[in-house]
Amino acid sequence: MSHKADELEKLKAKASKDQTLPLREGAKNLVFGDGNPEAKIFLLGEAPGKNEDEQGLPFVGAAGKFLDKLLESAGVKREDVWISNVVYFRPPENRPPTAKELAAFASYVEQQLKVINPKIVITLGRFSLNTFLPDGKITKIHGNPQKIKWNDQEITLLPMYHPSAGLRSPDVRKLLEEDFLNNKVLLAKF
Ligand code: URA
Repeated sequence: MSHKADELEKLKAKASKDQTLPLREGAKNLVFGDGNPEAKIFLLGEAPGKNEDEQGLPFVGAAGKFLDKLLESAGVKREDVWISNVVYFRPPENRPPTAKELAAFASYVEQQLKVINPKIVITLGRFSLNTFLPDGKITKIHGNPQKIKWNDQEITLLPMYHPSAGLRSPDVRKLLEEDFLNNKVLLAKF
């Protein structure tokens, strides 16, 4: 196992045992993250839904299928990226995570990013975006890559709407499809 894969396994084992993490009670599985530990592209979503909770894997339901299509349109293979969320247990009824819940998972999100050390982070939705830019407005900056320094890591941040929002609204779907296509050249570099 590679060094990064090994570190991620250790971190996952720690999160599995961490009784301070909220939302565990109503969830079936911890959804830690999945993909290529050597990835240069890190996708960060919101929280597991029903399918993710059942399988213990991120983005395996309807939003995941749409995300796969968006990635494919931008020439990115899902097996080449790492995918995780800002919350690792499914919130009841898929409600949005609270500030307290986000804070409880924040150190794990940070540690995953440190281990993977990606070149680019694609945030999916506002909770993920606000991890890096607390006042960032998705409506204003979606699709626009920006260089940021985060915990001593130089990364390119690419804010995107959440795929679930695209499934609910044809307008957002169009924006998402455009944003991924418009960043094809950028993403091909990684
Ligand atoms: N939505 C998310 O934000 N994350 C998942 O893993 C699935 C759906």
